[in-house]
Amino acid sequence: LKEKIQRSQKMELIGQLAGGISHDINNMLTIVNLNCDIILNSSQNISPVVKKQTEQIKKTSKHAAKLLHQILSFGKKQRLNLISLNINLIIEDIEKMLIRLLPENIELKKELSNEIENVLADPTHIEQVILNLIINARDAIGETGIIKIETSNKEIHEDISLGSHFLKAGHYVVLSVGDNGVGMDPNTQARIFEPFFSTKEEGKGTGLGLATIYSIVEQSKGTIVVNSELGKGTTFQIYFPATDLKLNSLKLEEQNNINLEG
Ligand code: ADP
Repeated sequence: LKEKIQRSQKMELIGQLAGGISHDINNMLTIVNLNCDIILNSSQNISPVVKKQTEQIKKTSKHAAKLLHQILSFGKKQRLNLISLNINLIIEDIEKMLIRLLPENIELKKELSNEIENVLADPTHIEQVILNLIINARDAIGETGIIKIETSNKEIHEDISLGSHFLKAGHYVVLSVGDNGVGMDPNTQARIFEPFFSTKEEGKGTGLGLATIYSIVEQSKGTIVVNSELGKGTTFQIYFPATDLKLNSLKLEEQNNINLEG
């Protein structure tokens, strides 16, 4: 537990620091962008080279601003909209979009338990968790492979530790995303929840996906269990405490505005 507290304090601090710095850099980028516009609009006959290079600067600063936006929203504590929801409905709602993210030869297999219990969570957060896990699975697979998304109820009869995780006795809903991709070595596994840790090529990963998932799952009082083997694949299992609350159930039409890959 101590380790868990230290880890979330560290993440919060990194998040706040990153948020502060990003904000300043964002202001500077606005100035860069404005000055590019001034050059581009200064006269009709600026040389083609100057025009091209200025447009390049604009494009690069736009890219940097997008990255900063992701960092800023990570650092910010977002307002929570916790409701009692059915994870299966969320998966079904975003399934088409998930499939669109995958190349033709990556198959998405779905095994959703019929009698799934509800969990107390923010629906947009659950979408984000699923989306990030699927994108990571896709990137770990490359071209051809299978991603399996599963849900099930699980009853834990007495307090246990699962790997380095502690689970209190009770009812849980387990969301699992598995892939047969490259897998991870133990050193990588030890660092995946650190903000800004990424092994992806530049421009592809921010290293914020799993750190975001970690804090979301923590807010729902859940636990993440990772199983990974180099060359074989990876499975993420997220344990969400089940809730008896059936009130205020999810309105699907309210949550169609999902933001694709930032
Ligand atoms: P990003 O996707 O931007 O790199 P994440 O926090 O989502 O950031 O992931 C951090 C790192 O964890 C990835 O760069 C990768 O090395 C590793 N990782 C995450 N998911 C998987 C997976 N399914 N298979 C193999 N490695 C993974």
